[in-house]
Amino acid sequence: MPGDVVWRVNAGLDGVVYHDVQDVSNPYELTVIVNKYNKLKESYVPPDLKSIGNVKVRAEAADAYVKMATAAAIDGIFFIPQSGYRSYSYQDQLYTNYKATDPNGADTYSARPGFSEHQTGLAIDLNIPSGGSLRNFTGTPQAKWVEEHAHEFGFIIRYTDKNTDITGYISEPWHIRFLGIEHATNMKKFGIDSYEEYKVKYIDHKEGENTES
Ligand SMILES: [Zn+2]
Repeated sequence: MPGDVVWRVNAGLDGVVYHDVQDVSNPYELTVIVNKYNKLKESYVPPDLKSIGNVKVRAEAADAYVKMATAAAIDGIFFIPQSGYRSYSYQDQLYTNYKATDPNGADTYSARPGFSEHQTGLAIDLNIPSGGSLRNFTGTPQAKWVEEHAHEFGFIIRYTDKNTDITGYISEPWHIRFLGIEHATNMKKFGIDSYEEYKVKYIDHKEGENTES
């Protein structure tokens, strides 16, 4: 669809991943986008990290997480934050290890350093209370609850089976990202799967007219 082409171009998705790359200019903003085309500086560390369980995320995301976990518990649903903020150097180690053992697959589930949403301090990987592989979270009552309610607390599920072609990552029902209640709710309401599409259309307002004839 041509209309689809326009927003994709405006989101930079017509470029080559990890090659046509922009430096993120607003890392402190809650609407920041980090993906395979938008890179954080090695030196970027979020200014307001706060602990939730054994991980740290930015203060607003931490407060929202506590509210969400409390509401879930009332429904008899329990989960833990398994990963939150990750530094550039830690991401480098993680990616290097995955790449060494799985050279062809690593890029579908692990971000290269500077390209991880976890470095923003706005992303959380959830797991069931017993922990282990994040894949344990998939298909659980917890995953279902989060899918239904995360937006009420300002979180989106960032990587779904519907946006793999846009994000370049496999479906990760455990990876939530704080975006604020208004935008997270809008994405749900408008049925938009990727933050890439939502940001271009409703934050940058660059959906544009179809210039192709
Ligand atoms: Zn994650």
